[in-house]
Amino acid sequence: MMVIKTVSVMKALAREWRREGKRIGFVPTMGYLHEGHISLVRESRGRAGVTVVSVFVNPTQFGPNEDFKKYPRDLEKDSAYLKEAGVDALFYPDGGEIYPPGYRTYVEVEGLQDRLCGKSRPGHFRGVATVVLKLFDIVGPDFAFFGAKDAQQVLIIKRMAADLDLDVEIVTCPIVREPDGLALSSRNAYLDPDRRRAARVLSTSLRWAEKAVGAGERDAGRLVAGIRSILEAEPLARIDYVEAVDPETLEPVAEIRGEILVALAVFLGPTRLIDNIRLTV
Ligand code: AMP
Repeated sequence: MMVIKTVSVMKALAREWRREGKRIGFVPTMGYLHEGHISLVRESRGRAGVTVVSVFVNPTQFGPNEDFKKYPRDLEKDSAYLKEAGVDALFYPDGGEIYPPGYRTYVEVEGLQDRLCGKSRPGHFRGVATVVLKLFDIVGPDFAFFGAKDAQQVLIIKRMAADLDLDVEIVTCPIVREPDGLALSSRNAYLDPDRRRAARVLSTSLRWAEKAVGAGERDAGRLVAGIRSILEAEPLARIDYVEAVDPETLEPVAEIRGEILVALAVFLGPTRLIDNIRLTV
């Protein structure tokens, strides 16, 4: 596995691969890798001739009071994990490589970026869209793989790719969970044992919602209220938001019809975790 730190070398390698007729699969990450990330790598290896993974803790997607500085990092472990998973190249640029002095250009996916997580994290998706567009330009992938855990993120990236006529297929991969249902996340490392135990309530509440809809619930307000009461019963959890929305526009729905996205964000102490489920009736 090649470990590449500069934009110019990454571009040159990708150019070479394209000349050889290889199809490039790309998995952007912020590192501190887990099985969720590796599931994206596997999907890429199944579809593309070569797979590039980026590890870049993107400063522009963190708010001023968020965890950019203390976001967990372990390049050595990540690179061993990726090598083992059969990745061809690890792109690991530093901040100045992606945002050199004088950097001024940002991408905004209007409307979608302001809903759900965008409300509690203003500017977050502007940072995400910007870095992903830059990484797409550097790597030039045929396919890019994203996890359904970040449902709003995939939707925004798909919208950006369509709006800007990008020649990349965006592939959404299912959420990988711990045995007790907690969605894998690099941020789970922040949880002490009590909060880790309490964190189960996110997926428990979504599974309840799935059952409720299966049993005939069609009122989104009642569904959201039911989820909230499950979350509120966990004293270590504090709700950021719970919403039932249209999966394409992210606008709240009143009635459960067709497909809906139920998305939530919950704080356990200072750690903010997200989860979601798509429900179809
Ligand atoms: P991150 O490193 O958290 O920015 O995540 C990088 C990619 O991995 C994103 O596309 C995430 O949606 C995806 N991902 C993170 N956690 C999971 C998970 N538990 N299951 C599936 N994909 C995930």
